[in-house]
Amino acid sequence: MAGAYLTIDDSPTPKTLALCDFMTTHNVPAIFYCRGDHIEQYPEVTAEIVRRGFVLGNHGYAHQRATGLHLAEVQEDILKCEALIDAAYAQAGVARRGKYFRFPYLDRGCGAWIVDYHAMPSDDAAIIQKLFAEGLYLDDTQPSPELLQKQQSLQTWLAAQGFTVPFDGVTFPWYTHREMSAAKDALYTFSTADWMMTQRHLSKDHPYKTIDDLKRKIDNDPFLHDEKSNNIVLIHDQDELKDVFEALLAHMIARGIEFLPID
Ligand SMILES: [Zn+2]
Repeated sequence: MAGAYLTIDDSPTPKTLALCDFMTTHNVPAIFYCRGDHIEQYPEVTAEIVRRGFVLGNHGYAHQRATGLHLAEVQEDILKCEALIDAAYAQAGVARRGKYFRFPYLDRGCGAWIVDYHAMPSDDAAIIQKLFAEGLYLDDTQPSPELLQKQQSLQTWLAAQGFTVPFDGVTFPWYTHREMSAAKDALYTFSTADWMMTQRHLSKDHPYKTIDDLKRKIDNDPFLHDEKSNNIVLIHDQDELKDVFEALLAHMIARGIEFLPID
């Protein structure tokens, strides 16, 4: 059976606890990468996520692109969210097991690039570029040395702060390249592309327009059903997307994907 880690971005929202109910019913563990500004809005929901046995990750305070910020501003934004996550664990009376972070928009500080594609074999680079490019408006323009330096500085800083990723057993050759596997922030190996179902995005020229389209994306993914490697699945917690979340999660479960504990 294929194993996958469920990673949920943009929590908490007024729908979060309903998602927790759904996941508990289906025995699905998950990590919620929370926005600090949302934690401030819904502190009790945040503590309740922890009480229910799910894990909190950091998704920045104000959900900004790291490329447009100075290094110190990105660090400050991350630390502001860290303090709120610490407070949520304290409020829940649960010990925190690790520090986990995902960049908003997967903007890791180096502009149009997610990882340094030129530093890896071209076959692997093509797979990763396809994985990340869908809807993220990437191109293969080489970032300036300053941006590459900022991305590197952020990785070094995240490591020094003790950030890690709670994923094991992801063994795709393109993931084992250190640009992916040594990242101190959470990347992914499969995006549900659920966010394309929001009204704001449905009017745009995205490849997926219905839940059935997204189910086909799950069915046809070349890596998601691999028996030998675990996957890291990206999905969102947004007001508009609760039904999409439940439909896609149910579909992945029906397709035999086993969701793995986070720790
Ligand atoms: Zn986000």
